[in-house]
This record gives sequence, C-alpha cells and structure tokens, in this order.
Amino acid sequence: MCQNHKELEQNPSHFEESEEVVAHTDLSWESHRDLIRGMRFFDPHIHMVSRTTDDYEAMRDAGIVALIEPAFWVGQPRTGLSTFKDYFSSLVGWERFRSSQFGIKHYCTIGLNSREANNEPLAEQVMEILPLYLYKEGVVGVGEIGFDDQTAVEEKYYRMQLELAKKAQLPVQIHTPHRDKKRGTERSMAIALEHGIDPSWVIVDHNNEETVKSVLDQGFWAAFTIYPFTKMSNERMVKIVEQYGPERIMVNSAADWGISDPLAIPKTAVLMKLNGISDEAIRLVTYQNAIDAFAKSGQIDVSDFENGLTVDQSQKFNGNTILRGGQEPGAKKTNTLIIK
Ligand SMILES: [Zn+2]
Repeated sequence: MCQNHKELEQNPSHFEESEEVVAHTDLSWESHRDLIRGMRFFDPHIHMVSRTTDDYEAMRDAGIVALIEPAFWVGQPRTGLSTFKDYFSSLVGWERFRSSQFGIKHYCTIGLNSREANNEPLAEQVMEILPLYLYKEGVVGVGEIGFDDQTAVEEKYYRMQLELAKKAQLPVQIHTPHRDKKRGTERSMAIALEHGIDPSWVIVDHNNEETVKSVLDQGFWAAFTIYPFTKMSNERMVKIVEQYGPERIMVNSAADWGISDPLAIPKTAVLMKLNGISDEAIRLVTYQNAIDAFAKSGQIDVSDFENGLTVDQSQKFNGNTILRGGQEPGAKKTNTLIIK
C-alpha cells in the first residue's frame, strides 16, 4: 500500500504523486490490441484540450466512443475571470466539436477546481458564472471539485458547489487529493452526505487501495485513474477488480498536459482480459458504470454513440474546421517519411 510514503511538496499535475516506479510487465499494446477489438469504451475523465489530434485518432481506433472532460486548472495561475469563461466555453463548444470530428462523443463537467479555489477573489467571481455553464447541453456534472491542499477555502467552495449541483440536479465529480488522500477522501464524502447528497450521485475519483473499500461501502461510485509509471498502475487496477468485483467501479485516464496515456482504458481492458476477468466485468468498469453514473444528469443518450458517430470533417464550428490548408476530410495520416 503506502509504506514509507514521502509527501511531495508540490503537486501541480495529476501525475506527481509517486515516489516509486512500478515495474510494468513487458507487453506491447500493438500485439495485444486485437484482444479487445470490437469493445466500446467510455473515458469519464480526460482533459482533451491538452491533447492532440493524434490522440483523438488513437482513442477512436482503440474503441473509445465517448468521454467526459472535467474542468480543471490549466497548469499556471490564471490572471482573470475571462480565462475561466473562455475555458468553460471551449469545453461546451470548440472541444466538443473537435471531438465529434474524430467520431467521439464529448461531454464535460463544469466547476471551480480545488486548487484555484484558493485564489479567493477570483473564486468568488467564478462562482457567479458557473450557473451560466452548468445548464448547457452536454454538461453531465459539477466537477472536478473537492480538495487539493485541504484548506478552509477549498472546503468553502466545495460546499458551495455541492449546493449548485443539488440545485441543477447534476452528479458531482470529486477530485481527491494526492497528499493525505485517505483523510481527504473521507472528508469529501462526509461533507457530501452532510449536504444531503445521495452517494449514488457522487463519483469519487483518483481512488487507490486505501480508499476504495470505504467509498464503495458508503454507496459512492469509485473511479480509478490509471497513472503511467506511478502507483496506480493498471496491474493494480486488475487486482482491485478481482478483489471488489465490477460494481460501482470505473476506470479513467485523467490524461492531461502532463505525462499521461489517453489509451489507459483500452490498455487496462487488455490486461484484465489477460488476467481472466470476464468480458461483462470489463464492460462495466470501462464503459457502462460511467454511463450509469453520469446519465443521472439527463444529458447522456447512448444511442448517440453506441454504434459510433458519423464523422464529417468538412463541418465547421463558428466558421472553423479541424482541417488545414487543402486537406481532404477523413484523410488518414501515414507513417512514412514523405509527408503528403
Ligand atoms: Zn482531472
């Protein structure tokens, strides 16, 4: 579990919690991907604004048909409210369009992330504009919210946003802190219950072996982020599903601008398959459970993506396409030296 845990001073991205590198089995994705051919995946936590068109293509080819992009921080301090506005607008606008152009249905959650809650003058202003975005099409929750450093100010804005979620009748996507995780997770759940929120409306994210039992026992959804080269590897994920079964458990990549893997879900599905986990259990933790949890928003219609999206790359969003000078819609990149 977490012996000799050395707390990190700073934790800017999702991916700096590890003090050890877990040895991964030497298995190549290319030689195993056929094992999951035909399976569909839903990534309920991925930050696509930080990812490339290559990522979108690889995700689509690997069977990811839909995703949720939670609002989070952009890696450096914001200088004003307008950057929040532009960011939220891109989550419900341009990024959703960009995703559709690669055949992936895009949803998002909107919220003031815990880290930026600590800038109180700005946080106050963000709270005022959140309702303008929470009711937009494709917004499936308030998120990602919760604790980072577990400050009093973080708690204040977490509570305020729980009230917003109740009012908007939206699920809550909780980011649990990487430092002092166990305590932060318990605190997040206790506060949600205190606000009268049904745990079946709350997705507790970034779980590990220390937190999962309590999260499940209390009736919350337990989401797991597969972090490459860090503690929560997909090998450990396999063991968690073996131990707890697939009920109310979901896997995500939380891929962002840090070192991360947008194919974390299909790769984990391969590993589960190799370890003898049933296809139905794999389907639940990599697809169905996330849909069931976030569909409480009333915003998810599986017929939009279960049989794939029609892609027309000649479409435009505010006059812009994803194509560059003279490109043909739907043209496939080749991996030769000569770039045509
Ligand atoms: Zn995130």
